[in-house]
Amino acid sequence: MAFCIDCPSCGPRPVTEYRYGGEVPRVPAACLDEAARDVDRVWMRTNPEGPTTERWYHELGCRRWLTIVRDTRTDEISSIVR
Ligand SMILES: [Zn+2]
Repeated sequence: MAFCIDCPSCGPRPVTEYRYGGEVPRVPAACLDEAARDVDRVWMRTNPEGPTTERWYHELGCRRWLTIVRDTRTDEISSIVR
């Protein structure tokens, strides 16, 4: 894994400056069992192939969290939001 993330505050930086915060979980529209929903949100990962929304922390830069959309096949980033 060697790619750059274009931080809105710091500019393009290598991924080694960031800490991976995980996938942004999808919340089901309706779920009767709230405990099961919460367990799924915290522990279950889908590890998708293709575009996925993730959180990254710019630990060695501005120390802010970013939400990015990254294609896991190519590491191409299509969206970055602070
Ligand atoms: Zn930054």
